[in-house]
Amino acid sequence: MSDIRAAIIPVTPFQQNCTLLWNDRTKKGAVIDPGGDLDRIRRAIAETGMSVEKILLTHGHIDHAGGAAELKEDLGVPVEGPHEADRFLLDRLEESGRGYGLKARPVTPDRWLQEGDVVTVGDLVLDVLHCPGHSPGSVVFVAPGQRFAIVGDVLFQGSVGRTDLPGGDGRALIRSIKDKLLPLGDDVAFICGHGPASTIGQERQTNPFLQGEAIV
Ligand SMILES: [Zn+2]
Ligand SMILES: [Zn+2]
Repeated sequence: MSDIRAAIIPVTPFQQNCTLLWNDRTKKGAVIDPGGDLDRIRRAIAETGMSVEKILLTHGHIDHAGGAAELKEDLGVPVEGPHEADRFLLDRLEESGRGYGLKARPVTPDRWLQEGDVVTVGDLVLDVLHCPGHSPGSVVFVAPGQRFAIVGDVLFQGSVGRTDLPGGDGRALIRSIKDKLLPLGDDVAFICGHGPASTIGQERQTNPFLQGEAIV
């Protein structure tokens, strides 16, 4: 299973880490969080030679989901995720885009995800964790065998997702991280929605938001 490759394309003025995930042998892959700058995403897809099977969304914010409707139409592929609790955000993408001067369209996923669901990308199997707090419908994708995860805006290197946006909940976020992400194991590497990648172990030991029993 060392055939799995990932490429990160920072998109939108928020520098969101749109991630391509594909199998280098079969070339089958997924686009995770196509928030915008679709021309750059399309170029990156072409460079990898991958064949996009689906679009995955970690949550409903514009920098993650703003380009999903157009890319879905372009590629003729389904959208899977996030959890349905983010429906209100996906319905409002056009309005929220206007506030930032971004063109975006609402998107309705072909499949809403729940805790315990499984998503496939080619022959790669990803477990779905529902991790509310940053947004109510945030999900995390975990490849347990390959020891990596895609965590969206739940956890960052040295920080955690903001909780001051509609539906945000600081206590729920810390609970999601402590109850669901930390138990994945220190060796699990993750790609997050903004900034550099990290590991669960590095964050468990050094992330100031996760020290002691303190709750935001
Ligand atoms: Zn977000
Ligand atoms: Zn974000």
